[in-house]
Amino acid sequence: MHKSPKMKQRSSTFQTTLNKKLSRRQFLQSAGACCAYCAMAPANAKLLDYQLSATEIASGTWAVHGRTEYFNLDNGGNIVNVAFIEVPDGIVVVDTGPSKRYGEALLDLIQRTIPNKPILRVYNTHHHPDHCFGNQVFDSSLIAAPQGVIDNLASEGDAFAENLYRLVGDWMRGTAIVLPGTALDADHEVVGGRRFSLFYLSGHTNSDFVVRDDETGVLFTGDLAFMFRTPTTPHADIATWQTAISTLDSTDRELIFPGHGPQDKKGDSLTQTADYLAWLDENLRTSVEQGLTMNEAMALPIPERFNALSVLRTEYERSVVHLYPQLEDSVMQIIEITR
Ligand SMILES: [Zn+2]
Repeated sequence: MHKSPKMKQRSSTFQTTLNKKLSRRQFLQSAGACCAYCAMAPANAKLLDYQLSATEIASGTWAVHGRTEYFNLDNGGNIVNVAFIEVPDGIVVVDTGPSKRYGEALLDLIQRTIPNKPILRVYNTHHHPDHCFGNQVFDSSLIAAPQGVIDNLASEGDAFAENLYRLVGDWMRGTAIVLPGTALDADHEVVGGRRFSLFYLSGHTNSDFVVRDDETGVLFTGDLAFMFRTPTTPHADIATWQTAISTLDSTDRELIFPGHGPQDKKGDSLTQTADYLAWLDENLRTSVEQGLTMNEAMALPIPERFNALSVLRTEYERSVVHLYPQLEDSVMQIIEITR
């Protein structure tokens, strides 16, 4: 395509911006870069401490709860739930957090909590960056996920990393994408003398992986379940997600460990997530049918029953951006225009 001088100018401005971003990321990744910025790093590094702690939520099962917030410079992306489990011959980890720095803190916490036992398996529940950007501190051959999760991380991981560098800055220093080295498709596996049931679902993304410890009955749902935190929808298919929630609801378990928020004995995380998604879908469909613009839809009131969900208005607005275009395509008739 022939470029007009204006387009050329825009294109080169965009390229320059892109180069600046890449340079900054490369710069942050380079521990050896030598300048005034690095002279500041030791003092700054002291502040960048995730201060992770573990809570035993079932026998030998340790939860590391993140804040129920959106990514920001204060939380460094620690907005996610991660867990580790002591099995007879070692340790199993579920998700790895948002950065290399988090992964290092997690590994340290694991070794202090359960000394002298090897890590035998690391599961990634899905490819979102808060769940698997700590992968690089673990042996990649021990990291396991369905092929869909691996493919998603391979195709979108770099873009996620760029975005996280922008959102949380120096917390991400040195973080690189590490793909799981093991693709899973069996319905269970025995790790270190413990049987884990494996469930291959979708809806929050096109590949969501759920693990159940068959000894304790803890069901690690990843982001198919949110508790007191508004569900996120950047890769969601709401109808499929509702089907996955029904499947999880009928799955034997003792405790749900959701992707965000506190552990859940009664299944409230599934009810909360399903209720919010049903309202979101209905609300947006009605808005499209009424001809509201995206901005008008974003300004609509949210029912008070969702006030207990954190990050409510922000995530609702993000969901309008994610979901409105495809809803408009599905609800509104395409009118052929002939001139
Ligand atoms: Zn997610």
